[in-house]
Amino acid sequence: MLDADFFHRWMTATAASVEREAERLTALDSAIGDADHGINLQRGFRAVKAALEKEAPDTPGAVLVLSGRQLISTVGGASGPLYGTLLRRTGKALGTAAKVSEAELAEALRAGVDAVMALGGAAPGDKTMVDALVPAVDTLGDGFAAARAAAEEGAVATIPLQARKGRASYLGERSIGHQDPGAASSALLVACLEEAAA
Ligand code: ADP
Ligand code: MG
Ligand code: MG
Repeated sequence: MLDADFFHRWMTATAASVEREAERLTALDSAIGDADHGINLQRGFRAVKAALEKEAPDTPGAVLVLSGRQLISTVGGASGPLYGTLLRRTGKALGTAAKVSEAELAEALRAGVDAVMALGGAAPGDKTMVDALVPAVDTLGDGFAAARAAAEEGAVATIPLQARKGRASYLGERSIGHQDPGAASSALLVACLEEAAA
């Protein structure tokens, strides 16, 4: 079973991963966006870390709802409301239980990813974070390592796609041949589930 500490570790591992990968994420965004994705997430996950240290929520759901709220209020770019919605909706779906199973997390994340698609209007294949998140949720039943591999594959698979949502879509065919920055950061988020479990 996964407790509030697990979810706290998931968020702090993601914050550390974003710090390590910020330059790469920003470089990906400089090719098909406005070169701020790493900076946006750095700002957001620093706020998440600080808020969790201060408030120390005691349920899995509360950890994710608080984290999502930080992302929405501190990240200016499109990714803030989208990641914020992902975490908030996942947290709400987990309810007030002190511990949740991996199956319950998989189901809650499905609700979170559905909310991202509803908010942003992106479907799989549109070259967005959804292309890493949907395969991750689809394979989470096979464990965190499987979800991690699926998210990484999904992110790499955005390279040949033409963007149909977000800033990169303004480039039309010129978005082809570059990995989507949000798909790359979503793969980091999913990979950190495995780190938190270790
Ligand atoms: P901005 O584009 O506002 O500068 P970021 O650079 O932080 O925001 O985030 C860009 C990422 O957000 C994209 O790479 C993409 O994965 C994701 N994104 C943008 N718009 C959408 C959308 N409508 N639906 C899903 N994801 C989106
Ligand atoms: Mg950007
Ligand atoms: Mg921007």
